[in-house]
Amino acid sequence: MELTGSQLIGDTFSNTGSQSFTGFNPVTGQPLPTIFYEATGEEIDRAVALADQAFLQYRKIRGTDKAIFLETIAEELLELGPTLIETASLETALPETRITGERGRTVGQLRLFAGLLRDGKWENEITDPAQPERQPLPKPALRQVQIPIGPVVVFGASNFPLAFSVAGGDTVSALAAGCPVVFKAHPAHPATCELVGRAMLRAAAKTGMPNGVFSMVHGASYEVGMRLVQHPLIKAVGFTGSFRGGKALFDLAVRRPEPIPVYAEMGSTNPVFFLPRALQKNATALAQAFANAVTMGTGQFCTNPGLFVTLQSDKSFANQIAENLNNISVGAMLTSGIRQAFLNGIDHLKTQEGITSLTAAPTEAVAPTLLLTTAARAIAEPGVTEEVFGPSTVGIIAEDKTSVLAFAKSLKGHLTATIHGTNEDLEEYKELIDILTLKVGRLVFNGFPTGVEVSPAMVHGGPFPATTDARSTSVGTTAIYRFTRPVCFQDMPAVLQEEKW
Ligand code: NAP
Repeated sequence: MELTGSQLIGDTFSNTGSQSFTGFNPVTGQPLPTIFYEATGEEIDRAVALADQAFLQYRKIRGTDKAIFLETIAEELLELGPTLIETASLETALPETRITGERGRTVGQLRLFAGLLRDGKWENEITDPAQPERQPLPKPALRQVQIPIGPVVVFGASNFPLAFSVAGGDTVSALAAGCPVVFKAHPAHPATCELVGRAMLRAAAKTGMPNGVFSMVHGASYEVGMRLVQHPLIKAVGFTGSFRGGKALFDLAVRRPEPIPVYAEMGSTNPVFFLPRALQKNATALAQAFANAVTMGTGQFCTNPGLFVTLQSDKSFANQIAENLNNISVGAMLTSGIRQAFLNGIDHLKTQEGITSLTAAPTEAVAPTLLLTTAARAIAEPGVTEEVFGPSTVGIIAEDKTSVLAFAKSLKGHLTATIHGTNEDLEEYKELIDILTLKVGRLVFNGFPTGVEVSPAMVHGGPFPATTDARSTSVGTTAIYRFTRPVCFQDMPAVLQEEKW
């Protein structure tokens, strides 16, 4: 299939702009051949206006028909075969095996939401029957239903070119809710975006969905995303990416004349607490498994364990982790910008007072890195617990249990936290569980946070600054409620009850 580099505005291709860019091969640093055109203001407005028009029809479509649409997207993705896998791998330097796994997850997610729509229970209809005889006033019949909120703009992240991109979790949950989507393509994998975007449009056409239910615009500058978020017809934003990007778009959205919700899933350092008896039993295996988790995918996961905590008496465990890290080689990073940000981040951390490096810290080349400090220092300088996106981790040495708890209390919001402990450890550290429950979206016991299961009970979210709205998840079926709102019908005549409103 020949790529066009165009905006996909409903079922038409458009490239009226003069600004262009290309993708890059992260391994060679060389530009890739397709020229992509940045969307103009007029193209963005056209995509949003079409989404608004499509909303009138799409919001009325029954769950079973939306389910067929989502399943057809899944089929169209699989239909792209090796072209999709090779293109995504070329643009991101992620191995083809990883991309194949990610496609499986993306397809599985589409089917999971299709199942949710068929089942229909997610709509959580609540009815309060009328009590006409009630004194002193009769009680009306009340019926609460969930309705979609309107056109949604979605931003994807560079590190998940399929699962958190064009047909990823935000798009699928918005479409399942009944909201058309305008997707801002990620400039780090624009060809992958076009392949998937066109697959979505084929699925929309095959299943009779209204034109404009999905559109996609390109942009290598922030203007495209900013204009989308500020557009008066956009009713919500789904974002996955950096803290800087998510917070900037959140600030923009709340300053609009009509503020709208922004569900920004941002970076996190995902602290892992190693309790003493677990280390007595299993330090060697845990050190290896932890080093593997830190370096998986060159450390480019939002759930990467970028922080760990041990007691002073177990300090040698940090050396064990460092030895493992020194023996692991990592692949190229996703973009030259991310690579530079990693090197700068490590440089900055190294210059902080009270930080030592247990690995051969990287200078020019990206390498697994372990920096060490004390709990007291980390409490005084919370900057050391902030995300450096890549294969690095900061070890926190705590003098005693009180110091472990004080450090946990000082943490800001994270996507996950993990505790390694025996039953006796967990009994002794119950207070730690209480503290961490208030800090994260997911608390992992005796495992690693890196993998995120796509399943109804999953929470991939957490308090700020991990996200801009801790009341929601971006993974799992309850992600749908980000894009609906409740409405109550009072004394609605029976003749209207069967219709979809
Ligand atoms: P990014 O640089 O923030 O980019 C994400 C998207 O936002 C891109 O389309 C980008 O467009 C746009 N953007 C960023 N800043 C913007 C601004 N100020 N105004 C308008 N648009 C803006 O993130 P990334 O580098 O792709 O991804 C890596 C980060 O994502 C890491 O921090 C990682 O932890 C996080 N992440 C989080 C999750 C999660 O679920 N919480 C999942 C995966 C990744 P341009 O590039 O055109 O600016």
